[in-house]
Amino acid sequence: MNFPIQYDEPVFRPPSEGKAFLIQVTIGCSNNLCTYCDMYRSKKYSVRAIADIESDLDKSAAYFKQMGYSPKRLFLCDGDALGAPMDVLVPVVQKINELFPELERIGIYATAQNMLDKSDDELSLLASMKLNMAYLGMESGSDKVLHMVVKGNNQSDMIEGSLKVKKNGWKLSTIAMLGLGGKKHSAEHIRETIKVINETSPEYFSFLTTMALPGTPYHRMVDRGSLEMLTTKELLGEMKEIIAGLRPRLNPILFRANHVSNQYPLGGTLPNDNTQIVQTLTSWIDQTPEGVFPPMPSSM
Ligand code: SF4
Repeated sequence: MNFPIQYDEPVFRPPSEGKAFLIQVTIGCSNNLCTYCDMYRSKKYSVRAIADIESDLDKSAAYFKQMGYSPKRLFLCDGDALGAPMDVLVPVVQKINELFPELERIGIYATAQNMLDKSDDELSLLASMKLNMAYLGMESGSDKVLHMVVKGNNQSDMIEGSLKVKKNGWKLSTIAMLGLGGKKHSAEHIRETIKVINETSPEYFSFLTTMALPGTPYHRMVDRGSLEMLTTKELLGEMKEIIAGLRPRLNPILFRANHVSNQYPLGGTLPNDNTQIVQTLTSWIDQTPEGVFPPMPSSM
């Protein structure tokens, strides 16, 4: 029996949701402007009809039943599904709970704007129905860098949105992008990212390495020389300085840098493991030659 759902490709999910069952609630991304991102450029943003989402859920529940399997994790796609209205999210999440009672949690990509647009009561209601794991592509804490890449939200939005979901029972996984500001904004990118991560203390924190993907405005900036990319050594330097500065205000952070675009896997709990991670990074930096850039991963 073939898996019964047809996804509207391409579909993305965070590395830590690799085993999650995916359901598309929205198609594409409501922002779709970030200059470095080509994930959803082929898609026009829309919220799927509830009947279509429910049909996918019914078909997959029958499939899983036949396979004698009940998923523990489910992830709602696409790029910022928390932007879907409550009159879609609530019935969908209710049905998910009915069909998959063994589910431990539901994850979702969320922009700071999505978090700000939902009320405390709405976020709290969703969390009570196991939709309580938000993945925020913050990318940088720097207003200059966020503005440059047309992120659509600034530092204060990132802080306010993050604290809002946490206050309402969610766990937060925040992603920053090494090298995003190029050489010119590297120092500010480091300083302001430390500030936001310390202030918001996401339960999980990870890095991606910025790649100038052909066809993106970011790539054009690099091409015409208005943005200078960081070498591998400099990227590791950014990571080291950020980790060294992390003293989360609210709770420990589980840190990992294991995405396909990162050069090396690395992880630990912050602040306890700061020193050890910084030592590892120092030795990697010492061994890394000058002037070398990270290769573009084949899967990007
Ligand atoms: S919000 Fe995320 S998915 Fe949307 S364009 Fe920006 S990086 Fe891409």
